[in-house]
Amino acid sequence: MKLTVASNQSVVNLNFSSQAMPAKTEDERPLRLLLVDDEPRLLQSLCELLRDGGYAMDTASNGKEALAALRRERYDLVLLDLRLPDMSGHDIMDAMRGDGLDASVIVLSGETGIDAAIGALKRGAYDYLRKPYAREDLLNTVGNALARRRLETQNKRMARQLERSEKLYRYLVDSSPDIIYTLNRDGRFSFINDRAQQLLGYSRHELIGNHYSMLVHDDDLERAYYVFNERRVGERATRNVELRLKPHDADAPDKGRAPLTLSFNSIGMYGTGHDPRNPEYFGTYGVARDITERKRAEEMISHQAYHDFLTDLPNRILFRDRLGLAMIHARRKETELAVMFIDLDRFKLVNDTLGHNKGDELLQQVAGRLKENMREGDTLARLGGDEFTVFLPDLQNRDDAAVVADKLLHCLSEPFFLDGHEVHISASIGISVYPGDGEGIEELLRHADMAMYQVKAEGKNSYVFYDGAMQEASYQKSTLEKSLRRALERGELEMYYQPQIDVRTGRIAGAEGLMRWNHPERGLLPAGEFLPFAEENGLMLPISDWMLEALCRDLKKWNDCGGEPVRLSLNLSPQYLDRGDFAEKMRQALLDCGVSPSQIEVEITENICISNPQHAIDQLTRLCELGVSIAIDDFGTGYSSLAYLHRFPIHTIKIDQSFIREIRHEDGHFPVVLAIISIANGLGLNLVAEGVETQAQARYLEQCGCATMQGYLFYRPMPAEQLVRLLRDNAALCA
Ligand code: C2E
Ligand code: CA
Ligand code: CA
Repeated sequence: MKLTVASNQSVVNLNFSSQAMPAKTEDERPLRLLLVDDEPRLLQSLCELLRDGGYAMDTASNGKEALAALRRERYDLVLLDLRLPDMSGHDIMDAMRGDGLDASVIVLSGETGIDAAIGALKRGAYDYLRKPYAREDLLNTVGNALARRRLETQNKRMARQLERSEKLYRYLVDSSPDIIYTLNRDGRFSFINDRAQQLLGYSRHELIGNHYSMLVHDDDLERAYYVFNERRVGERATRNVELRLKPHDADAPDKGRAPLTLSFNSIGMYGTGHDPRNPEYFGTYGVARDITERKRAEEMISHQAYHDFLTDLPNRILFRDRLGLAMIHARRKETELAVMFIDLDRFKLVNDTLGHNKGDELLQQVAGRLKENMREGDTLARLGGDEFTVFLPDLQNRDDAAVVADKLLHCLSEPFFLDGHEVHISASIGISVYPGDGEGIEELLRHADMAMYQVKAEGKNSYVFYDGAMQEASYQKSTLEKSLRRALERGELEMYYQPQIDVRTGRIAGAEGLMRWNHPERGLLPAGEFLPFAEENGLMLPISDWMLEALCRDLKKWNDCGGEPVRLSLNLSPQYLDRGDFAEKMRQALLDCGVSPSQIEVEITENICISNPQHAIDQLTRLCELGVSIAIDDFGTGYSSLAYLHRFPIHTIKIDQSFIREIRHEDGHFPVVLAIISIANGLGLNLVAEGVETQAQARYLEQCGCATMQGYLFYRPMPAEQLVRLLRDNAALCA
């Protein structure tokens, strides 16, 4: 007999043959026989008869001995006399069965009645031989009995082995981290391992016999069909496909789990039927791995790549991508499309006043409101900072975009609340329309941006559509930037000085350095016309470096003339102070020119204290330690820093010109001016009034106790040489 067991790994052939049976058991133990007869002569002759077989043999001459031997040893065959002095052979067989003693039995008996034979065979005897038996018959019967016994043992062992390996494979399959399954030719599960239950919550019996489609997410059904129904063979047999499966409770309201994503590898199973050239399909075998976590991670990463972290709005990349698609669509459908550039007004102030965290929170709230006011097909993105962009596809006409812009401005006009602070904010919106204002993404965005700047320039909190004239303005702006860089290199900048007078003595108490640009075409430009640009373009730092050196150089020139030491003040850009190395630069510049720090006063505005007061205090303290004095410029107009005033190392307060301008005649009452004067007196600070243009203003200020003044009434800002001459004359006059 040949039995072939197929397994995944190999084919095991087990051959059994009834021929040429050796007198040994499978495990190399000699076959053991028990001969039971009460006649010693018969026992003797049996022994002799079987001696050549190579068996191990024991004898027993009564039932008791026989049973004792059977219980002691494992026998393969018992040759049993039926009639024994103490019990019958039947009794022994009954006892064997009762004790579970497993040995083949051949009954040898002199009984002639058929009952004895039937009784023996009924009890499972292998054969029954009547005494006297022929020698050949006995040997044959013993041979056959042993051959069958051997077969039976081998079969039992095989069965045990199979059972063990089946258990092992089942264990391996069930503890696999993957789902392993087979489908029959109709696509119904014919096998599935335990992993399915753990992952999907279906028990094996809920799945077996059911169609795979019960598990597959509706949107993936079509793909699933290709995986499982395309009957591929050969190298192309496996296919790796990702499908989403519905867990058991997927439809349960509220607590239903999200679909799981599995990567499927499936192979068609074919058997050779009648025609070997045309193998018969009988199902699919496959493995599916849970890749939900990996997918989730991938999705998260790609989401982050295309979204703004703070507001979760699409970012610049995604915006451009979508805008590109929308433009293609608009071209095909011959519709228009609007792009908006939205920039918040006064956002920096909020950020500086309340801190970056609150600033971020405000941006999130703004994003939320803007989004609420968009249609489904519109895309709102955050480009960074306080800049947002929107595009509106399928525009019927420009008015539609105007309506949306109005709506957006309106939704921002309601106050925002940040930790109990009520914050008001507005936005400037520039709009460009495809295809009229540009046919490329860059162009549309640039034009919307230009339009937005126009709104900023015209007072903010509004929207405007791009028009060609803006191109010209923007061109001017960019040429200004270029020529300002050049101005620095070519030495077109110059420091002018405006003297400060002590009106009681007529002495020049000091002078403020004010920057001018000798523009090759436009003539002398005041600081207000170009410094704001420098602030925007990062040019403020090199320009400030230049200013510091120029001022110290001019001061040295005066000192070299041997005049009375005069104090010059310089305006410090907040950007320059922020950088943190200003004190060191100042120290070096003074050292280089041999100028005393007491001849320098630095003017700062109150606003530098807003964003990071401690940093500002630290910087100013370092300046003070150098021996430089500090003035607060434009006092009263900025962020009210009265609370900080006594924490700052300050020497001088400059009353802003807007308050001085209010003074129309000397008999009036100007409480703000009075208040500032009394603050300065209270804190023991110097006081300078700026922008004094009339005698009335000068007299009023002097009456109230502010004697140091600066303004066109006395002198306009002048070049350094002129100041030197003036100082000389003034010294002579006062001497
Ligand atoms: P500021 O520090 O308040 O300077 C006073 C401004 O008022 C100067 O304008 C000055 O020319 C002008 N002014 C002086 N007296 C009168 C007057 O009687 N009537 C009127 N109407 N105006 C008067 P300027 O030079 O255009 O400077 C504007 C601003 O630019 C300055 O305001 C200052 O903040 C900034 N600035 C000027 N020079 C520099 C500089 O070298 N560095 C820095 N960082 N900023 C500067
Ligand atoms: Ca100033
Ligand atoms: Ca000022």
